[in-house]
Amino acid sequence: MKDYPVFLILILLYLNPIISNARQVVQLDTIECIRKKGQVKQLYESERNVNQDEPAIDPDFILFLIGDTGNPQCVPELNDSFYRKVHESTVKSSIVYLGDNVYTNGIPYRSYTSDTYEGKNMKVKIAETKLLVQLNRLSEYTGNAFFVPGNHDYHKIVKSPKRIDAQRNLITAFDKKKETDGEIAFKPAAREDLKVELVELTPEIAIIFIDSEWAVRKINKPESKRLFTDPLKKAFDTAQKYNYVILAAHHPLYSVGDHGHEKLIFASEDIHRKKYRKYIRSIESYLNKGINIIYAAGHDHSIQHIHSQNFHQIISGSGSKSNHIIKNEVPSDSLQYAIANHLTDEAFMKKRPRFKTALESLLFATNYNGYVQLEFYSGRNEVWMKVYAISDNSLKNLYSARLF
Ligand SMILES: [Zn+2]
Repeated sequence: MKDYPVFLILILLYLNPIISNARQVVQLDTIECIRKKGQVKQLYESERNVNQDEPAIDPDFILFLIGDTGNPQCVPELNDSFYRKVHESTVKSSIVYLGDNVYTNGIPYRSYTSDTYEGKNMKVKIAETKLLVQLNRLSEYTGNAFFVPGNHDYHKIVKSPKRIDAQRNLITAFDKKKETDGEIAFKPAAREDLKVELVELTPEIAIIFIDSEWAVRKINKPESKRLFTDPLKKAFDTAQKYNYVILAAHHPLYSVGDHGHEKLIFASEDIHRKKYRKYIRSIESYLNKGINIIYAAGHDHSIQHIHSQNFHQIISGSGSKSNHIIKNEVPSDSLQYAIANHLTDEAFMKKRPRFKTALESLLFATNYNGYVQLEFYSGRNEVWMKVYAISDNSLKNLYSARLF
């Protein structure tokens, strides 16, 4: 039987692909990453941004804001640079993922009882892998990381709360297994199903998490008072004792991007929709109350800094996608030109008051893939915003501004 080992090798060779297939990490589809035809890279900084001297010392706390990260396979350079920066930082920090954490339709529901995250079928596996790719990068992270829901996490069309439960369960299961300090959590938490939750980051800084996708759809429903309006009021009452309050929600209040144009066609996720406007008004009723507020959002696939009505709004939504900010009629990537062009069109602006305010209050915008870093200097009572994005294949600091 001298042929026996050869026979055995042949059997092993035959079985090998089957065994390794079972263990294979799901390959995420890069077809989803192809940029829209004609899309240009845009970068704008208002002359009104007066750059003061940046502090030459380390901040006391950093909050990383990154959004719309649900196609992590599309931005390998950004992921490598972002997580390297996060891990290299010797300053205490937290991360907020601003929604649309899993494209295109969140994670189908199932319970996570086993140690493995192997889904039942390929669709589930792909969805889970998109989140796990992000979570795995956090396994050594010692700060806290929070995920808020976006419209895609609920499923683009079906809008299923079960998908939110699925995402929360997967994050919680991962957090339980994680060995380093620092919590990874889905926010607002499921407690009593409230859509608003305040978390203290430091004795000076609080963050109010809002499920804005729920709010922009359900704000007229009777349960909205118990689940959204009352908890929001309570959160702002508690927020009074903090020096800085960050509101973290998926939907922006103002935007010069795709969702902010106030187009006169049906689109439930755009700022001009009635319920969305009611959501905006409910938030705005708490601004200008003497607290230093930063409203952080995603949804538009760009980074924007809008400073209006004495509060700062930051959109950080280019974590895995990128959209044009204002479509240019002329073949130019000059956002400056497009903004000026829009503002002189009085008839167009009259129908779009929020868009007009956004354009007038815009300090910075880019559609490069990137993220925002908020730096808190408690000794100096200063807060700085810094934009980092991938430009010419490397991470660059594209913008710095003192917020407070
Ligand atoms: Zn969105």
